[in-house]
Amino acid sequence: MCGIVAYVGSKQCQDLMLEGLKRLEYRGYDSAGIATMHNGKINVVKTIGRVANLEDKLETVGGVRGTIGMCHTRWATHGGVTDPNAHPHTDDRAGICLIHNGIIENYASLKTYLQEKGHVFKSQTDTEVLAMLIGELYDGDLEAAVQAALREVTGAYGIVVMCEKEPETLVAARKGSPLMVGVGNGEFVIASDGSAIIAHTSHAFSLEDYQVVKVTPKGFRTSTIHNVPVTPKVQQLEIDLEQIELGSFSHFMQKEIFEQPKALRNTLRGRTDIREGKIVLGGVGSFAKQLTMAKRIVLTGQGTALHAATIGEYLIEDLARIYSVAEYGSEFRYRNPIIEENTVVVAVSQSGETADTLAALIEAKERGALALGVVNVVGSSIARETDAGVYLRVGPEIGVASTKAFTGQVAVLTLVALYLARRRHMSADQCADMIRELEQVPDKMERILEDDARVRTVTEKYIDRDNWLFLGRGYNYPTALEGALKLKEISYIHAEGMPAAEMKHGPIALINDGMPAVFIANRGRQYEKVISNIQEVKSRGGRIIAVATEGDEHIKTLADDVFYVPDVPECLSPMLTVVPLQLMAYHAALLRGHDVDKPRNRAKSVTVE
Ligand code: GLU
Repeated sequence: MCGIVAYVGSKQCQDLMLEGLKRLEYRGYDSAGIATMHNGKINVVKTIGRVANLEDKLETVGGVRGTIGMCHTRWATHGGVTDPNAHPHTDDRAGICLIHNGIIENYASLKTYLQEKGHVFKSQTDTEVLAMLIGELYDGDLEAAVQAALREVTGAYGIVVMCEKEPETLVAARKGSPLMVGVGNGEFVIASDGSAIIAHTSHAFSLEDYQVVKVTPKGFRTSTIHNVPVTPKVQQLEIDLEQIELGSFSHFMQKEIFEQPKALRNTLRGRTDIREGKIVLGGVGSFAKQLTMAKRIVLTGQGTALHAATIGEYLIEDLARIYSVAEYGSEFRYRNPIIEENTVVVAVSQSGETADTLAALIEAKERGALALGVVNVVGSSIARETDAGVYLRVGPEIGVASTKAFTGQVAVLTLVALYLARRRHMSADQCADMIRELEQVPDKMERILEDDARVRTVTEKYIDRDNWLFLGRGYNYPTALEGALKLKEISYIHAEGMPAAEMKHGPIALINDGMPAVFIANRGRQYEKVISNIQEVKSRGGRIIAVATEGDEHIKTLADDVFYVPDVPECLSPMLTVVPLQLMAYHAALLRGHDVDKPRNRAKSVTVE
């Protein structure tokens, strides 16, 4: 779930591992720990809290020595946030030490088995069970013991293991929780994310599910958990340090909001052909016909990705005229879904590791659906599970609150909708017109970003209010949901998003004097209706913050504050209307004194169901 960094080589590794761990801090976590091995002895230091707390604790004990080690940030799933539950975990017999991301689902029965064998546990975690199991099975060969243990385990894991009896060996494995091995000169860095590797080497390979790697300073060997040798593809990491550093920005979320025009240009680059009036999606190629013939498209995701998926539902239905529906992956997966012939499932996820979405995708595939991925991280689990896909290409997203991935997802889904529409009924001219509009969106976004200071001033006016509403209709109903989610996840202000029309069916009762109601009221098919909804809130004492189309003077007579966005065809408007909402959430969190990039209780990629 959270962060893994491990090292074997010739350097003292405490500081360089902690450096890597800090690059993973953005993922959100609650405890941190480190272990190194020196003269065949493993030293573990761990604590609840931040990596900075771990550093303090290390200082008081004089640090840990060794040229082999591992460190971890934990996001608790099994057992409370306590020092003993933090990783690394050790066994009680064989000198095993282990860090783990994910969940061991059958930990309870394994624990009973191990307790019957006399093992004594020190934590409540599922992870410690795996450490004990490896110790129980250890018979002089760590790699074999890890393979054997993993054959008994169900669930998700990215693990790194070492053993006092093999002082130069790290063994790592993965199933459903990403793990990469950076290959340096006589040294290796294993991490759950490339950003912790890039400072040491740009050559790396990803482990696939059910693969195990044994690493020593001299080299590595990869195999499956059944010990079938495999040859990994060592590749150049496609990130550079600048992409994962703050530069002149104060927070990653802020950087990523401001990066959106550039990110969007990248998403669109090479995918539009204005002369021919068509969309070019290389990753879809051989499935083009099947996609075009789709009878039903199910878009799945969670959180922000679900909001993008919902815009995708509107886009595909409206432009391509294919029946589509957006659903939570977590709900879709478990409700015995009907998948008829010619159903396409589209999995939307920034990380490509979202467990709920991945599970839905696998379920749909098993029932015969064609699977399409809309993800950012190249080579991620969802990217690998899908038949075809379109990458976002927005660069690494580090802020926990998703921003540029959202607009990237919406842009990709717009391309998909146009691609299908053009292959079904849309003329080349119509498509060329849409492409022209689409290509202006990044410039238009830049204009909205210039309003940043004013967004802050307006947000300040309402910062004491603890309940907010976000309302929109049509294409901008999901934008309202996204605005509410952004505000709650980083500023901890209660906010609800809903279709503007829904408000009068109940939530209107919430409106009291001074309650902020953010309306997405750009020009479009339902503009007049939104205006009526604004009146309804206003007449009950609510304060209106409107996102409106440039040139709309009338809205000023109704709204307390207005953020203007440039005019675009309605179906493209969410990419613009969401920008002031992102900025508002950012400023609200700052004004309330919260850590924007590390919101409480949150993790960046949610790899547990
Ligand atoms: N399930 C493990 C625990 O609760 C690992 C959680 C994680 O991925 O950080 O300790």
